[in-house]
Amino acid sequence: MPSLHDEPRSMNDMTYKIDEIRRLEREAACLDPDAAERRRLLETINGYVERFLEEVPVRPAYISTPDMGRALYDSPIAEQGMDLDGILKLFRECVDDVGLSPVSGRFLGYIPPSSLYHGALGDFLAAVTNKYSGDFSTCPGAVRMEHQLLRWMADLLGYPESAGGVLASGGSMAILTAVVTAREAHGLKSGDYHRAVVYLTAHTHHALDKALHIAGMGECVKRRVPMDAAFRMDPGRLEEQVRSDRAAGLMPWMVACSAGSTDLGSIDPLDAVADVAAGQGLWHHVDGAYGGFFILCDSVRDRFAGIGRSDSVVINPHKGLYTPFGLGAVLVRDRAQIYEAHFHTANYMQDTRLSREELSPADVGPELTRHFRALRLWLPLKLLGVAPFRAALGEKLLLTRYAYERIRGLGNVEMGPEPELTIFSFRFIPDNGDADAFNRRLLEALRRDGTVFLSSTIIDGRYMIRFAVLSFRTHIETIDLAVEIIGRFAKELT
Ligand SMILES: *Cc1c(COP(=O)(O)O)cnc(C)c1O
Repeated sequence: MPSLHDEPRSMNDMTYKIDEIRRLEREAACLDPDAAERRRLLETINGYVERFLEEVPVRPAYISTPDMGRALYDSPIAEQGMDLDGILKLFRECVDDVGLSPVSGRFLGYIPPSSLYHGALGDFLAAVTNKYSGDFSTCPGAVRMEHQLLRWMADLLGYPESAGGVLASGGSMAILTAVVTAREAHGLKSGDYHRAVVYLTAHTHHALDKALHIAGMGECVKRRVPMDAAFRMDPGRLEEQVRSDRAAGLMPWMVACSAGSTDLGSIDPLDAVADVAAGQGLWHHVDGAYGGFFILCDSVRDRFAGIGRSDSVVINPHKGLYTPFGLGAVLVRDRAQIYEAHFHTANYMQDTRLSREELSPADVGPELTRHFRALRLWLPLKLLGVAPFRAALGEKLLLTRYAYERIRGLGNVEMGPEPELTIFSFRFIPDNGDADAFNRRLLEALRRDGTVFLSSTIIDGRYMIRFAVLSFRTHIETIDLAVEIIGRFAKELT
């Protein structure tokens, strides 16, 4: 290979290289489209988006097709591009019109997402400007925007001025960040892991188990603390367990509460657990990935009492604040702890971090270069204010009570506990035959039909259908439709 310093052997050689440079430049010019081309692309995409959004209200929540979009593979990535209309057709047939439609208001399974249009515009702005949000001295505005959002959330939750955190790609990454912070804050070393004890319940989200595993702590001792009849952790039993573990030579380390469990939306008694955590020296983590933003609503705020006393909390704007997927926040009450658990550097980083005025996200989380994700929340909040979000969440709380009563009214149903937030469970009790099998068949029939989408879980060994309300597109007509369909299918199956 010629080195960089090789002299061209002749002028001809030089000419040849310049021609080649120009040729390559022309070939790559489409990477930087001009104004006319940008307008054409945007108008085409916008045409698609408009049609998509017009159809959302009547779109099925779930679409089955014979090949479930496999034809995407028939159009391989190639040297030459194809036209946008053809690409959008492919996208529509193989991606958009297949499987779940997470933006549908009739999606009542898992934790319903929705994707705010204003958030999508924030994503567009973020991607076009591509600010480097990892480092304060490089792009201070992007980092300040993130810190403003984190501070707003910290205030909502009652966290002190000392708090700090990071915007992660979702709840799972946020929980991992919290687990690593808790591990370091307690000075746990690998030789301790098999004796370190984590207290949770049977309804703790599996992202915590996964985070412990990824953090290298999969072998720690997990105590599933018993729950009351409404599936909330029993703080008395927690304390007993901690004492007996300590007496047995173990190292009680962390207690994880749910502030809105995924199964049933139940909220563990955060204040009482905070007392036990303080008395016993446990790291108190609260998972508010689904439920946290309901603290905006007066009618349920007192259920979150004590959340501000925890050591770390996770809260997902891509659930409760309707942003597009990819936004979960972790807050730690003492920001020095999240910094100490994550800060690393290298020679080639010496020109960054020149200012210590504010923490850099790269120093308090696992990522270095990252999506400028703050914009997908900041733009909607600045444009719309907080009030409409509070209203939407309040509407969902009331809709869920309404749905609970309407499902109960169908008859022959066994209801799970009354909803604390916006999730409840139920199952039909058939006159004869196995209830689990009957409800499983019912859910399958609902899914084949696809008009509404529900999911299921197992509670105390019984198959239960879950009804979850969260999307800003779910309204009272949606609930009426869902109840009508559920009732009709149940009748048809008996
Ligand atoms: C959704 C959820 C998670 C996981 O969050 P992701 O954003 O899906 O990674 C964790 N905990 C609870 C309670 C959740 O509802």
